[in-house]
Amino acid sequence: ATPPSATLSSADDARRGLPMRQHQQHKGSFGDLWVLGGARGMGGAAHLASRAALAAGAGRVYVSELGADGQAPADPCWPELMQRDAHAWCAPGVLERITLVCGCGGGEAVAAELPAAIARAARLVLDADGLNAVAADPTLMRALAARRDQALSTVLTPHPLEAARLLGCSTAEVQADRLAAAQTLAHKTQAVVVLKGSGTIVASPDNVPAINPTGNARLATPGSGDVLAGWLGGLWSSQAAPPTASAHQTARQAALSAVWLHGRAAEVAPGDPGLPLPAHELIQALQRASHLTR
Ligand code: AMP
Ligand code: MG
Repeated sequence: ATPPSATLSSADDARRGLPMRQHQQHKGSFGDLWVLGGARGMGGAAHLASRAALAAGAGRVYVSELGADGQAPADPCWPELMQRDAHAWCAPGVLERITLVCGCGGGEAVAAELPAAIARAARLVLDADGLNAVAADPTLMRALAARRDQALSTVLTPHPLEAARLLGCSTAEVQADRLAAAQTLAHKTQAVVVLKGSGTIVASPDNVPAINPTGNARLATPGSGDVLAGWLGGLWSSQAAPPTASAHQTARQAALSAVWLHGRAAEVAPGDPGLPLPAHELIQALQRASHLTR
C-alpha cells in the first residue's frame, strides 16, 4: 500500500504535548524561556508571546525588546514576566539551556541577533521578523539548516507570506499546494515547520505531514500568531525530552499539540462566532482548551 501523504492531527497529539505537573516539581523543572521581539510599535507581540509561554507552563519567562535602548517595558497586567536587557540572553551558558522564541516583532533588529541564536540556542522557535531575516540572508538559511546535525532543534511558524519568502516563491504558489510547500520548507531548513492558516500543516524532515482540523476564522486577528509561538515554546520548554525520543521529535510533539489546542481554544472561547477573538483573550481560552482536552 502507498503510505499516506498526510495525517490528521488529533486530541491524542494535543495530550502528548501536555505534561501533567508532578507534586515534587518546582519552577526550575519546567525550563526557562526567553522571548526576543517587540520594538517599533510591536511591543505587544512580545508581550503576547511571553504571556502565552508562561500560561503554557514554561518555568520562568524573560523578555527582551529588540532595538530598544534599555529593557523591555514591564507588562503591568502580567507582573510574573521578567524584563531583561537585550543581549543578556546570549550570555555564556544561557542559550544552551533555554527555549528561545525569536521574532515576534523586532523588525530589522532581529537580523543582528540571529547568528548567535541560530548557532547556539538548544531550542529555537522562529516567527515573523525572525523568518523574514532568514529569508533575506542565505548565510542565515545555511546556518539554520545546519542546526540539526548539532542536535539543536528548531520550529518555524510561518504564515503563507512568510513561507513564500523563505521558499522564494509567491503566496499563491504556497497556497496552491500547502502540503508540498510545508514539506519542501522542512527539508530546506531541516526544521519542524508550522505552515499556518486554515488547516495548519505541521511538517518535518522525518515524518508524514499532519493537517490540523481545529480552529476557525475568529483566529484571523492581530496577535494570534504571537500567542501560538509563545504557547508552543512554553509547552516545549516544560517538556523534558524523553530518553527514547530524539530532541527533534519533542519539538514536533510540542508543535502538534500547540497547533491543535490553539485551534480548539478558538472553538471553546466565549463570544460571538462572527467576531474576532482578541489575542489576549485567546491565552485564557488556551488554558481552558487544555483542561477540556486532558
Ligand atoms: P499570524 O498570521 O502570524 O497572526 O497567525 C495567525 C494565526 O491564526 C495562525 O495560527 C493561523 O493558523 C490562525 N488563523 C488565521 N486565520 C484562520 C482561519 N481562517 N481559520 C483557522 N485559523 C486561522
Ligand atoms: Mg504573525
